[in-house]
Amino acid sequence: MTYPRIGFSYDIHRLVAGRPLRLGCVEIPHDRGPLGHSDGDAAAHAVADALLGAAGLGDIGQHFPPGDPRWAGASGDRLLSETRRLLEERGIRIVQADVTIVLEVPRLAPYRMAMAGAIGAALGIDAAAVSVKARSHEGIGEIGRGEALAAYAVVLIDPGRD
Ligand code: MG
Repeated sequence: MTYPRIGFSYDIHRLVAGRPLRLGCVEIPHDRGPLGHSDGDAAAHAVADALLGAAGLGDIGQHFPPGDPRWAGASGDRLLSETRRLLEERGIRIVQADVTIVLEVPRLAPYRMAMAGAIGAALGIDAAAVSVKARSHEGIGEIGRGEALAAYAVVLIDPGRD
């Protein structure tokens, strides 16, 4: 019998003026955005990293190294699609993803469905199998001061074989 496998990950990016805020593969109007070698989409990065963990394939730093020009400015969609390819070529099926984004402002509630749809599209799964939740950090610390954002993700995969 083949058991499903879970993966978990976390990502954090510093927020700076003059960068677009892309989260969950959706652009959100705001006056600052995540600093990063890629587009800094912490939600997409957490999902990709959790998938690699579930599959026993290391982490995103290993597959998409910061400093590698191939991934300079890479979108969250691209990293998720590439992660999906790595899993699919091993016969692994992505089943579900649950994401929590921690960000003080702006409120993400209006974008949750769009993010679930976009992440699902990149992963080749239904939007209903992707959950995106958001919460503030209650004004505490760097995230609370709007200097950073973080994301957590849990995923489920079907390894297809033992
Ligand atoms: Mg990241």
